[in-house]
Amino acid sequence: MNRFDVIVVGAGIAGLTAARRLHQLGVSVCVLEARDRVGGRTLSHRLGTDTIDLGGQWVGASQDRVLALAEELGVRTFPQYSRGKRVLVVGDDVRSYRGFIPKVSFLALLESALTVERLGWLSRGVPLDRPWDARHAQELDRITAEDWMQQNIRTVEADGLLRLATQMIFAAEPAELSFLYFLYYLHSGGGLKRLAEVENGAQEARFVGGAAQLAARMADALGAERVRPGDPVVAIRQPVDRVHSAALSRAVDSANDFDKDFDIEVECRSGAKFFGRHVIVAVPPALHKKIQFTPDLPPARQSLRDGMPMGSVIKCIAVYSRAFWRERGFSGEVNFTAGPVRAVFDDCAHDHSQAALVAFIVGAPAHEYSLCAPAERKVAVLRQLARAFGPEALEPIEYVDHDWLKEEWSGGCYVGLMGPGLLTSVGAELRKPWGGIHFAGTETATRWTGYFDGAVESGERAAAEIR
Ligand code: FAD
Repeated sequence: MNRFDVIVVGAGIAGLTAARRLHQLGVSVCVLEARDRVGGRTLSHRLGTDTIDLGGQWVGASQDRVLALAEELGVRTFPQYSRGKRVLVVGDDVRSYRGFIPKVSFLALLESALTVERLGWLSRGVPLDRPWDARHAQELDRITAEDWMQQNIRTVEADGLLRLATQMIFAAEPAELSFLYFLYYLHSGGGLKRLAEVENGAQEARFVGGAAQLAARMADALGAERVRPGDPVVAIRQPVDRVHSAALSRAVDSANDFDKDFDIEVECRSGAKFFGRHVIVAVPPALHKKIQFTPDLPPARQSLRDGMPMGSVIKCIAVYSRAFWRERGFSGEVNFTAGPVRAVFDDCAHDHSQAALVAFIVGAPAHEYSLCAPAERKVAVLRQLARAFGPEALEPIEYVDHDWLKEEWSGGCYVGLMGPGLLTSVGAELRKPWGGIHFAGTETATRWTGYFDGAVESGERAAAEIR
């Protein structure tokens, strides 16, 4: 019989972490996945002689939960290569530099440093578990990050640098983000510098063999009878009395619900039905649209579903016969203020057996280049790499890109984003259970929201709610 104590919807890192923790406690679990693979926003791919990541790839300082999970699963990490000069390309001007802030005018340098300090101070004032309770929360949530930049940044260069950092960190334009949400996200990841940096930052290390191993190893350990890919969940039905008791007592004592029968019905597109005492929905809020909830989700949750669009990213990887940038003393890290690509990093194999660069098309250019033929996009990307590193960059031996805007079961990436007004009006709903339904996914995390680490936190929190 398809009866389980807990049914998890979504076999990304969040859903599988929840299932793993519950299974370890002896709770019967089943994970239902829409794609024909597990891993969600992680996607490792064989290119040339190495496994590269077309989805998430880095782990870094203070991401303790995902690092602990990786260790538990026997997945090793290696440092991101960052030795040597970085490059900033502004129009026709190609500047190499060392350190965090590139060579800009003295005024812009001063303003950039002060802005990082100021954003750090402002973001630390936003409580991670209750960002809507921040001082002046309503005011901060009424404006966008774009509004704040226009009102507070004077020099064109400092404005350009902050815009670039925002596009890379969120895969979105500053105009798409509520300023309160922007600050909350910075705080959640330990500040702008930590989010943007390699050393002691979010891009500090990569997984040997690819990030998708985290999900694959969790799924293998759970076994094929518990993890069922290739069949999307289309409906979740729970008895009205469970929803009513949740509405009466918002802090649901989930333990009591273990007396309930297997009274929540989960239906897949194939018509297969599963029955559970609890369900964990571990998919980004925007994808809740694809599931028919009965009774319907409460209005605040509907607002989250309708108001949290995903970011926009196309990830491109070029493999070369030699790491010519390293030979010339460059780290491989490049930022562009214009053109489809905003950032580039070294993406060589952990044992240096393959040379590669990874480039990111994010925000508005991702929408534009999502409409291009892949061959046309490749030419535009390689031309940009050549501007930073010379004509050798035009001749990769392998090339691949992945357009996350076209992924039906992600709807964009890296993460669901909040525009003005959402966090203060309905943010408190993000983690609230609805009857027997609990919510996970990196969007619901308090620390490192948007990252693997946040996905692990959310899965562990959802499992703990039920336990
Ligand atoms: P997901 O991985 O989205 O899992 C949700 C799962 O639910 C998916 O498998 C989906 O197919 C499934 N699903 C959806 N709807 C249904 C349905 N109706 N029925 C059944 N299943 C359904 N993070 C980092 O930490 N470091 C990085 O360097 C990094 N870089 C990134 C670069 C890119 C290009 C991308 C795309 C992401 C990046 N991220 C990075 C973000 C990171 O990948 C995510 O935060 C994390 O993987 C999210 O995990 P999750 O389990 O919350 O969600």
